[in-house]
Amino acid sequence: MPGFKLAIDGPAGSGKSTISSLIAKRMGWTHIDTGAMYRAVTLLALELKVNLNDEASYRFLETSNIHYDYDKIFINNRDVTEDIRSEAVTNNVSLVSSFPYVRKMMVELQQKAADYGNIVMDGRDIGTVVLPHADLKIFLTANVEERAKRRLKEHQKKGKSSEITQVIEDIKTRDQKDSTRKESPLRRAEDAIIIDTTHLTIDEVVMKIIELTDKKEN
Ligand code: C5P
Repeated sequence: MPGFKLAIDGPAGSGKSTISSLIAKRMGWTHIDTGAMYRAVTLLALELKVNLNDEASYRFLETSNIHYDYDKIFINNRDVTEDIRSEAVTNNVSLVSSFPYVRKMMVELQQKAADYGNIVMDGRDIGTVVLPHADLKIFLTANVEERAKRRLKEHQKKGKSSEITQVIEDIKTRDQKDSTRKESPLRRAEDAIIIDTTHLTIDEVVMKIIELTDKKEN
């Protein structure tokens, strides 16, 4: 059974991962957070102390196992779900994910993971590159101040203090890098439905997407 493929793309802090995870739980589907996969590559590259600017450095991916399972991410069976959220990873992930070789390796894994069953996959290029034939494509947006506020709340939960102005700058920089890179930039697929989440609760967005999914299924 090929199953239903739901693609959710959007910029940093638009709520993709939280919303995708909730949809997957409610529907009993599998969730794949592709951002977590690029973060895992970045973490490993930092740990191996390779030259991040050289595409050839990432050959370590040939002998590494990265996989995403039940909202947890593993490198060679080591759970790195917490470690991939570090500042060092966040600051370098846009560079790492800009290399065609890294993207090719990750897209292969993502497409394989989406082969069977009902899937919710979130990222930047899911509707355009990874699952161009997805049954439903959603593009989540929210204004940058709102996205920064959400990030700040996440930081506070972890006991980390950050300045809102700095968080806004970091988000803007990452969006700029992700949407201007040559290889698979952050872009809305032509057939994606845009949902602006600025004034919506998480639950409202989840319900909206489930309704759209139901319509497509029937
Ligand atoms: O979604 P998240 O913020 O965790 O993604 C981290 C980074 O991974 C993004 O800023 C982007 O550089 C990269 N990414 C990507 N393609 C995807 C998902 C994430 O390039 N499909």
